[in-house]
Amino acid sequence: MSTEISHKTVHLEEGDLDPPAVTCQVCGRGTDFRFVLRLQQAPDIDFQQCATCSACSVSRMPRDSYLAEFYARYYGEHDQGVTFRGAARFARHILASLDVPSLGGRARIVDYGGGDGSLACALADTLRERHGVRDLEVVIVDYANRQIARDYPVSYCSDLSGLAGSFDVVIASAVLEHVKQPVEVIRRLFAVLNPGGFFYARTPYSLPMRRLSAGFDLSFPMHLHDMGNVYWDNFLTTYGLSDCRLLVSRPSIVSTDFRANPLVTVLAHAMKFPARVERGFFSRPGRNLLWPFVGGWEVIIGKSR
Ligand SMILES: [Zn+2]
Repeated sequence: MSTEISHKTVHLEEGDLDPPAVTCQVCGRGTDFRFVLRLQQAPDIDFQQCATCSACSVSRMPRDSYLAEFYARYYGEHDQGVTFRGAARFARHILASLDVPSLGGRARIVDYGGGDGSLACALADTLRERHGVRDLEVVIVDYANRQIARDYPVSYCSDLSGLAGSFDVVIASAVLEHVKQPVEVIRRLFAVLNPGGFFYARTPYSLPMRRLSAGFDLSFPMHLHDMGNVYWDNFLTTYGLSDCRLLVSRPSIVSTDFRANPLVTVLAHAMKFPARVERGFFSRPGRNLLWPFVGGWEVIIGKSR
Protein backbone atom coordinates (compact mmCIF):
# COMPACT_ATOMS: atom_id res chain seq x y z
CA MET A 1 0.00 0.00 0.00
CA SER A 2 2.97 2.33 -0.24
CA THR A 3 1.50 3.83 -3.35
CA GLU A 4 -1.10 6.28 -2.24
CA ILE A 5 -4.48 4.67 -2.50
CA SER A 6 -7.30 7.09 -2.92
CA HIS A 7 -10.80 6.01 -3.63
CA LYS A 8 -14.13 7.80 -3.59
CA THR A 9 -16.08 7.32 -0.37
CA VAL A 10 -18.56 4.45 -0.52
CA HIS A 11 -21.86 4.22 1.41
CA LEU A 12 -21.90 1.09 3.57
CA GLU A 13 -25.01 -0.80 4.67
CA GLU A 14 -25.71 -2.22 8.15
CA GLY A 15 -24.72 -5.73 7.04
CA ASP A 16 -21.28 -4.44 5.94
CA LEU A 17 -20.40 -3.13 9.41
CA ASP A 18 -19.06 -4.39 12.73
CA PRO A 19 -20.93 -3.28 15.86
CA PRO A 20 -19.50 0.00 17.26
CA ALA A 21 -16.23 -0.65 19.10
CA VAL A 22 -16.18 0.33 22.78
CA THR A 23 -12.42 0.87 22.89
CA CYS A 24 -10.24 3.00 20.61
CA GLN A 25 -8.64 0.77 17.98
CA VAL A 26 -5.64 3.06 17.61
CA CYS A 27 -4.40 3.15 21.22
CA GLY A 28 -6.33 0.16 22.58
CA ARG A 29 -7.24 2.05 25.77
CA GLY A 30 -9.46 5.08 25.13
CA THR A 31 -13.20 4.75 25.72
CA ASP A 32 -14.13 8.45 25.61
CA PHE A 33 -14.76 9.92 22.14
CA ARG A 34 -15.55 13.38 20.80
CA PHE A 35 -17.73 13.72 17.70
CA VAL A 36 -15.81 15.25 14.78
CA LEU A 37 -18.03 14.88 11.72
CA ARG A 38 -20.72 12.67 10.19
CA LEU A 39 -19.40 10.53 7.39
CA GLN A 40 -22.70 8.95 6.31
CA GLN A 41 -26.31 8.52 7.46
CA ALA A 42 -28.50 5.39 7.67
CA PRO A 43 -26.61 3.68 9.10
CA ASP A 44 -24.83 6.55 10.80
CA ILE A 45 -21.04 6.53 10.76
CA ASP A 46 -19.05 9.35 12.32
CA PHE A 47 -15.42 10.30 12.60
CA GLN A 48 -14.70 10.59 16.30
CA GLN A 49 -11.62 11.59 18.26
CA CYS A 50 -10.23 9.47 21.10
CA ALA A 51 -9.71 11.56 24.25
CA THR A 52 -6.78 9.32 25.25
CA CYS A 53 -4.59 9.29 22.11
CA SER A 54 -6.20 12.07 19.98
CA ALA A 55 -6.42 9.85 16.89
CA CYS A 56 -9.65 10.12 14.89
CA SER A 57 -11.36 6.93 13.74
CA VAL A 58 -14.65 5.92 12.17
CA SER A 59 -17.31 4.95 14.72
CA ARG A 60 -18.22 1.78 12.78
CA MET A 61 -15.58 -0.42 11.17
CA PRO A 62 -16.32 -2.36 7.98
CA ARG A 63 -16.53 -6.12 8.46
CA ASP A 64 -13.38 -8.08 7.56
CA SER A 65 -15.29 -9.91 4.83
CA TYR A 66 -16.42 -6.58 3.31
CA LEU A 67 -12.87 -5.20 3.28
CA ALA A 68 -11.43 -8.39 1.78
CA GLU A 69 -13.95 -8.19 -1.06
CA PHE A 70 -13.47 -4.44 -1.43
CA TYR A 71 -9.68 -4.70 -1.79
CA ALA A 72 -9.92 -7.74 -4.06
CA ARG A 73 -12.16 -5.70 -6.35
CA TYR A 74 -9.93 -2.65 -6.05
CA TYR A 75 -6.77 -4.58 -6.94
CA GLY A 76 -8.66 -6.27 -9.74
CA GLU A 77 -9.16 -2.85 -11.31
CA HIS A 78 -5.83 -1.24 -10.34
CA ASP A 79 -2.24 -2.34 -10.69
CA GLN A 80 -1.13 -3.41 -7.22
CA GLY A 81 2.54 -3.25 -8.04
CA VAL A 82 2.75 0.41 -9.04
CA THR A 83 6.14 1.83 -8.20
CA PHE A 84 6.06 4.67 -5.71
CA ARG A 85 6.51 7.86 -7.71
CA GLY A 86 9.73 9.48 -6.66
CA ALA A 87 10.88 6.66 -4.37
CA ALA A 88 14.50 7.88 -4.51
CA ARG A 89 13.42 11.41 -3.52
CA PHE A 90 11.37 9.97 -0.67
CA ALA A 91 14.32 7.85 0.48
CA ARG A 92 16.63 10.89 0.53
CA HIS A 93 13.97 12.83 2.43
CA ILE A 94 13.80 10.18 5.19
CA LEU A 95 17.57 9.69 5.37
CA ALA A 96 18.19 13.44 5.70
CA SER A 97 16.63 13.24 9.17
CA LEU A 98 18.37 10.04 10.29
CA ASP A 99 21.66 9.68 12.11
CA VAL A 100 22.87 7.07 9.63
CA PRO A 101 26.23 6.33 11.38
CA SER A 102 24.28 5.14 14.43
CA LEU A 103 23.07 2.20 12.32
CA GLY A 104 26.62 0.87 12.54
CA GLY A 105 27.01 0.03 8.83
CA ARG A 106 24.03 -2.32 8.78
CA ALA A 107 20.42 -1.79 7.72
CA ARG A 108 17.83 -4.50 7.89
CA ILE A 109 14.71 -2.71 6.63
CA VAL A 110 11.08 -3.77 6.93
CA ASP A 111 8.37 -1.89 5.02
CA TYR A 112 4.92 -2.66 6.39
CA GLY A 113 2.33 -2.10 3.64
CA GLY A 114 5.26 -1.49 1.32
CA GLY A 115 3.59 -2.48 -1.96
CA ASP A 116 6.15 -3.84 -4.38
CA GLY A 117 9.01 -2.67 -2.16
CA SER A 118 10.20 0.23 -4.30
CA LEU A 119 10.48 2.66 -1.35
CA ALA A 120 12.35 0.25 0.93
CA CYS A 121 14.73 -0.70 -1.90
CA ALA A 122 15.31 2.97 -2.74
CA LEU A 123 16.16 3.50 0.92
CA ALA A 124 18.62 0.60 0.88
CA ASP A 125 20.15 1.77 -2.42
CA THR A 126 20.62 5.30 -1.07
CA LEU A 127 22.13 4.00 2.16
CA ARG A 128 24.71 2.13 0.13
CA GLU A 129 25.44 4.79 -2.49
CA ARG A 130 25.52 7.84 -0.23
CA HIS A 131 26.45 6.44 3.16
CA GLY A 132 28.51 3.35 2.36
CA VAL A 133 26.21 0.95 4.22
CA ARG A 134 27.05 -2.53 2.86
CA ASP A 135 25.13 -4.93 5.07
CA LEU A 136 21.59 -4.56 3.65
CA GLU A 137 18.39 -6.55 3.69
CA VAL A 138 14.80 -5.62 2.82
CA VAL A 139 11.57 -7.32 3.89
CA ILE A 140 8.20 -6.19 2.50
CA VAL A 141 4.96 -6.98 4.31
CA ASP A 142 2.08 -6.60 1.85
CA TYR A 143 -0.23 -8.40 -0.58
CA ALA A 144 1.97 -7.56 -3.55
CA ASN A 145 4.08 -10.37 -4.91
CA ARG A 146 6.10 -8.60 -7.55
CA GLN A 147 9.78 -9.25 -6.98
CA ILE A 148 12.39 -6.53 -7.11
CA ALA A 149 15.83 -7.85 -8.04
CA ARG A 150 18.74 -6.52 -6.01
CA ASP A 151 22.15 -7.88 -5.03
CA TYR A 152 21.08 -7.83 -1.37
CA PRO A 153 18.27 -10.01 0.03
CA VAL A 154 14.72 -8.77 -0.70
CA SER A 155 11.86 -10.91 0.60
CA TYR A 156 8.09 -10.60 0.88
CA CYS A 157 5.56 -11.79 3.43
CA SER A 158 1.83 -11.26 3.44
CA ASP A 159 1.29 -10.34 7.09
CA LEU A 160 3.12 -9.37 10.25
CA SER A 161 2.83 -12.81 11.82
CA GLY A 162 5.24 -14.07 9.15
CA LEU A 163 7.89 -11.53 10.09
CA ALA A 164 11.10 -13.07 11.49
CA GLY A 165 13.94 -11.40 13.38
CA SER A 166 14.46 -7.75 14.17
CA PHE A 167 15.08 -4.62 12.08
CA ASP A 168 17.12 -1.41 12.03
CA VAL A 169 14.61 0.60 9.99
CA VAL A 170 10.84 0.09 10.20
CA ILE A 171 8.62 1.88 7.68
CA ALA A 172 4.84 2.30 7.88
CA SER A 173 4.15 4.87 5.18
CA ALA A 174 0.51 5.64 4.32
CA VAL A 175 -0.73 2.34 5.72
CA LEU A 176 -1.91 2.64 9.36
CA GLU A 177 -5.06 4.44 8.20
CA HIS A 178 -6.12 1.31 6.28
CA VAL A 179 -5.78 -1.07 9.25
CA LYS A 180 -8.78 -1.76 11.49
CA GLN A 181 -6.65 -2.15 14.62
CA PRO A 182 -3.47 -0.08 14.32
CA VAL A 183 -2.66 -0.70 18.00
CA GLU A 184 -1.73 -4.32 17.25
CA VAL A 185 0.41 -3.33 14.26
CA ILE A 186 2.19 -0.55 16.16
CA ARG A 187 3.04 -2.84 19.08
CA ARG A 188 4.39 -5.50 16.72
CA LEU A 189 6.46 -3.01 14.68
CA PHE A 190 8.10 -1.57 17.80
CA ALA A 191 8.74 -5.07 19.13
CA VAL A 192 10.87 -5.88 16.06
CA LEU A 193 12.76 -2.54 16.07
CA ASN A 194 16.41 -2.93 17.08
CA PRO A 195 18.02 -0.64 19.69
CA GLY A 196 19.67 2.21 17.73
CA GLY A 197 17.11 1.73 14.93
CA PHE A 198 14.49 4.06 13.44
CA PHE A 199 10.75 4.01 12.79
CA TYR A 200 9.20 6.13 10.03
CA ALA A 201 5.44 6.64 9.64
CA ARG A 202 3.21 8.83 7.51
CA THR A 203 -0.56 9.10 7.88
CA PRO A 204 -3.38 11.23 6.48
CA TYR A 205 -4.31 14.28 8.53
CA SER A 206 -7.29 15.12 6.36
CA LEU A 207 -10.17 16.03 8.67
CA PRO A 208 -9.18 19.72 8.85
CA MET A 209 -9.17 19.78 5.01
CA ARG A 210 -12.76 18.53 5.09
CA ARG A 211 -13.66 21.48 7.36
CA LEU A 212 -12.16 23.73 4.71
CA SER A 213 -14.05 22.10 1.84
CA ALA A 214 -17.14 19.89 2.15
CA GLY A 215 -16.11 18.30 -1.16
CA PHE A 216 -12.86 16.93 0.26
CA ASP A 217 -13.15 13.16 -0.01
CA LEU A 218 -12.09 11.14 3.05
CA SER A 219 -11.76 7.84 1.11
CA PHE A 220 -13.89 5.70 3.45
CA PRO A 221 -13.74 2.68 3.83
CA MET A 222 -10.12 2.66 2.67
CA HIS A 223 -9.25 5.26 5.27
CA LEU A 224 -10.50 4.32 8.74
CA HIS A 225 -8.31 6.64 10.82
CA ASP A 226 -6.90 10.16 10.64
CA MET A 227 -3.80 10.93 12.70
CA GLY A 228 -2.54 14.48 13.11
CA ASN A 229 0.17 16.25 15.02
CA VAL A 230 -1.35 15.87 18.50
CA TYR A 231 -1.60 12.09 18.14
CA TRP A 232 1.99 11.81 16.91
CA ASP A 233 3.43 14.32 19.37
CA ASN A 234 2.02 12.20 22.22
CA PHE A 235 2.79 8.85 20.56
CA LEU A 236 5.60 7.70 22.90
CA THR A 237 3.55 8.43 26.03
CA THR A 238 0.44 6.79 24.54
CA TYR A 239 2.26 3.50 23.88
CA GLY A 240 4.66 3.67 26.85
CA LEU A 241 7.73 3.68 24.58
CA SER A 242 10.13 5.05 27.19
CA ASP A 243 13.17 3.70 25.32
CA CYS A 244 12.37 5.76 22.19
CA ARG A 245 12.75 9.40 21.16
CA LEU A 246 10.53 11.43 18.82
CA LEU A 247 13.08 12.89 16.38
CA VAL A 248 10.75 14.34 13.77
CA SER A 249 7.03 15.21 13.90
CA ARG A 250 6.01 17.46 11.01
CA PRO A 251 3.73 17.93 7.99
CA SER A 252 4.44 15.04 5.64
CA ILE A 253 6.51 15.16 2.47
CA VAL A 254 4.61 16.29 -0.63
CA SER A 255 4.10 12.94 -2.29
CA THR A 256 3.17 14.14 -5.77
CA ASP A 257 5.74 14.89 -8.40
CA PHE A 258 6.11 18.38 -9.92
CA ARG A 259 6.65 17.10 -13.47
CA ALA A 260 3.71 14.68 -13.39
CA ASN A 261 1.30 16.88 -11.44
CA PRO A 262 2.52 20.49 -11.27
CA LEU A 263 -0.66 22.16 -10.03
CA VAL A 264 -1.36 19.68 -7.21
CA THR A 265 2.30 19.73 -6.17
CA VAL A 266 2.50 23.53 -5.94
CA LEU A 267 -0.81 23.63 -4.06
CA ALA A 268 0.36 20.94 -1.61
CA HIS A 269 3.57 22.87 -0.88
CA ALA A 270 1.57 26.08 -0.42
CA MET A 271 -0.85 24.43 2.02
CA LYS A 272 1.93 22.86 4.10
CA PHE A 273 4.13 25.94 4.22
CA PRO A 274 2.29 27.90 6.98
CA ALA A 275 2.26 24.78 9.19
CA ARG A 276 5.99 24.26 8.66
CA VAL A 277 6.62 27.87 9.74
CA GLU A 278 4.27 27.50 12.71
CA ARG A 279 5.89 24.20 13.67
CA GLY A 280 9.38 25.58 13.27
CA PHE A 281 8.97 28.78 15.22
CA PHE A 282 6.09 28.99 17.66
CA SER A 283 3.93 25.88 18.01
CA ARG A 284 4.01 23.81 21.20
CA PRO A 285 4.19 20.02 20.59
CA GLY A 286 0.98 18.28 21.59
CA ARG A 287 -1.22 21.32 20.85
CA ASN A 288 -3.53 21.68 17.85
CA LEU A 289 -1.99 23.67 15.03
CA LEU A 290 -3.43 27.07 14.14
CA TRP A 291 -2.94 26.01 10.50
CA PRO A 292 -3.76 22.28 10.37
CA PHE A 293 -4.53 22.16 6.62
CA VAL A 294 -1.59 19.98 5.70
CA GLY A 295 -3.29 16.75 4.53
CA GLY A 296 -0.73 14.43 6.14
CA TRP A 297 1.74 14.04 8.99
CA GLU A 298 5.03 12.16 9.34
CA VAL A 299 7.28 11.10 12.19
CA ILE A 300 10.69 9.58 12.75
CA ILE A 301 11.24 7.83 16.05
CA GLY A 302 14.61 6.54 17.25
CA LYS A 303 15.05 3.64 19.68
CA SER A 304 17.82 4.08 22.25
CA ARG A 305 20.78 1.69 22.34
ZN1 LIG B 1 -7.09 6.19 21.30
